[in-house]
Amino acid sequence: MALLVIDKLSKRFDDITAVDGVTFEVREGEIYGLLGPNGAGKTTTISLTCGLLKSDDGNVMIEGRNFWTSPQESRKVMGVVPQELALYEELSGRENLEFWGKVAGLTSSDAKTRAGELLESLSLVDRAKDVVSKYSGGMKRRINLGCALMHRPKLLLLDEPTVGIDPQARMNILEFIRGLVAEGVGILYTTHYLEEAESLCDRIGIIDHGKILAEGTLAELQKQIGHDQLFVIEGSFEDVEPNDWPGFEEAFRVIQRTDSQMVVAAKGERDPAECLKQLLSVPVQLENVTLKRPSLNDAFLQLTGRELRE
Ligand code: ATP
Repeated sequence: MALLVIDKLSKRFDDITAVDGVTFEVREGEIYGLLGPNGAGKTTTISLTCGLLKSDDGNVMIEGRNFWTSPQESRKVMGVVPQELALYEELSGRENLEFWGKVAGLTSSDAKTRAGELLESLSLVDRAKDVVSKYSGGMKRRINLGCALMHRPKLLLLDEPTVGIDPQARMNILEFIRGLVAEGVGILYTTHYLEEAESLCDRIGIIDHGKILAEGTLAELQKQIGHDQLFVIEGSFEDVEPNDWPGFEEAFRVIQRTDSQMVVAAKGERDPAECLKQLLSVPVQLENVTLKRPSLNDAFLQLTGRELRE
């Protein structure tokens, strides 16, 4: 069942439409990834979902109830991990967990027990008594995550939880998140890292300029751009118009091009060997032709006309 339904949500700030008719849902035991570049509208969507902001249009439904008809109840269901760390640096890791547990309504003894459990599963037991100011970036991220989990939320909103940490720390966090999903927690996960969306998320919504441009599993998104068949052709393409080549436009779509390289998608379901043969016969001297499995980056490029990391 859907823990969270976002329905035609919109939010404007003066003349900027930060979120523009966004619709998606997050179900139990899945990670829904909202993937988009800086300024795409991810944080605003999270803020609207947890009631930090009120939308201009649209609805947020938590377990079938409108968020704003019962905000207290809705907040009990969700845990929010903001992009900016929400920690008291002068308190220890354990004290931070217990503090946020009490804010979420736990008794002192429940907060103590739950903090112990989380310190264990976040592998922070031996640093539990140290003040957070002495933690590494990755450890701070882990405690920040723990603070949002004190009240055992069914729905977790994670706003770019691995920004600015080293690869090992990122792996630890992603492993921990996978564990939560295995227990049935539903997760809304915003990121601008393609690899994270590819390896972690069950379904992905690609967002840009406040709009969801495409949505689906990785396989579904890949399918939208050329039935698993992309070709990289290398040669000299300055002042060349590929759509003027005989039969090219009917068979291929150019996804990306520079003066020395083009990425093209085969239209329809075709035999790759046939496609390669056709590409080798174009009226330009080619240096190389390779078959490539489409990545999420190719999907993103196709949808937005630019690289995610621009
Ligand atoms: P990032 O990864 O950089 O946080 P994002 O995808 O989370 O990006 P948002 O922070 O949601 O994007 O911003 C979406 C757009 O709304 C941007 O153009 C941003 O400048 C604008 N915006 C966000 N918050 C405000 C605000 N409080 N007042 C005015 N404009 C805002």
